[in-house]
Amino acid sequence: MLIDLHNHTTYSYDGSNTPEEVVENAIAHGVETVGITDHQFSIGDRISEYYSHLCRIRRQYAGRIKVLVGLEIGTRPEPRDLLADAAYDFDYVLFECLDDKRAMDWYEFLEWRRLFSCPAGLAHTDIFALGERYGLDMFAELRRAELFWEINTSGNYPYYYDLLTNTDKQNMVSRSGITISVGSDTHWIGEYRFAQLKRANELAVRLGNPIMK
Ligand SMILES: [Zn+2]
Repeated sequence: MLIDLHNHTTYSYDGSNTPEEVVENAIAHGVETVGITDHQFSIGDRISEYYSHLCRIRRQYAGRIKVLVGLEIGTRPEPRDLLADAAYDFDYVLFECLDDKRAMDWYEFLEWRRLFSCPAGLAHTDIFALGERYGLDMFAELRRAELFWEINTSGNYPYYYDLLTNTDKQNMVSRSGITISVGSDTHWIGEYRFAQLKRANELAVRLGNPIMK
């Protein structure tokens, strides 16, 4: 079981490959479930074009790889309210950067999150730091709000390296029962970090929690 639920395409301002190229690259690496998650602020008014394009790809590749139609939603500052309606039919959404100082307040986020009925998770978020900032048991928060947590293997987020080696944190995650996801956050397939993705998938399985797939 190999999943990669965080990928960008040319629908994102910072993505260099078409959705087809991203999916082909995932197939070439033996990934079984690939999710496309372009930035909502970059897709803008093309959201229905984006959605139908990805649905077409999901059908086209069925049997070879499972394609999930996702969306990454920025929280600094908060996006427009209508977004929850637009995101209704997505396989899942990722909320990013909630641990950033400029991000939406956590309590405000929890209210807003309830508008989204599809599966949802936190992308590249240091939940240990976030929990400390608010004085909250972040595992309980995630369970209550039905949010999964992403292990982001892009190399840009220190919590990933910490989790790989910190057995205390691994045990905490394991006991917590939260759902885990793994995402490469790839913006260009020429820089696909497959070894890291594989390692994080193995870790996610070892932690024994249900995995978003
Ligand atoms: Zn991303």
